[in-house]
Amino acid sequence: MASQEIEALSGALARLPGLGPRSARRAVLWLIKRRETALDQLVDALAVVRERLVECDTCGNVDTANPCGICTDTRRDARAICVVEEVADLWALDRARLFTGKYHVLGGRLSALEGVRPEDLTIGSLLDRVAKGGIDEVVLAMNATLEGQTTAHYIAERLETFPIRVTQLAHGLPVGGELDYLDEGTLAQALRARRPVG
Ligand SMILES: [Zn+2]
Repeated sequence: MASQEIEALSGALARLPGLGPRSARRAVLWLIKRRETALDQLVDALAVVRERLVECDTCGNVDTANPCGICTDTRRDARAICVVEEVADLWALDRARLFTGKYHVLGGRLSALEGVRPEDLTIGSLLDRVAKGGIDEVVLAMNATLEGQTTAHYIAERLETFPIRVTQLAHGLPVGGELDYLDEGTLAQALRARRPVG
């Protein structure tokens, strides 16, 4: 029987996305055997994340500063906002280096099944940003899933009253495709060929 300490760490790891109890326990044992090479590194990295990383109040990005480096970057086009579901999507798009504007992270997608309502996402603060003015275009970069597209349509409707262009990623995206799994070429193509929400 495993010690209480190992159970506690396994339990914490098992709550991570994609890790079940079995793989969590395997990871703990793997780490214990590699104290110097892996465990210390992990502990240090976690401490840095806990101490230094914060969520940006403006866009929802995760960074060492609030507002984040993207929000404060004056070389970026402040007149365009790209709306994504998760921070991982923001990073995926930014790696592709084609979008030069700012971002807005929703913190998920609308889902009747999981009980996610508009007020559970940062749609309100997106509307506030647009209402402040100075925005020409909002790019809806939701995943090509049913829920992602439902979310995009909902936001497009809420944005209808503003004198801005609302576009979405081209449907070169594979159906069911999640942004952060796509290669950069596919993402870049979808962004380049973005079209008005119709
Ligand atoms: Zn930000």
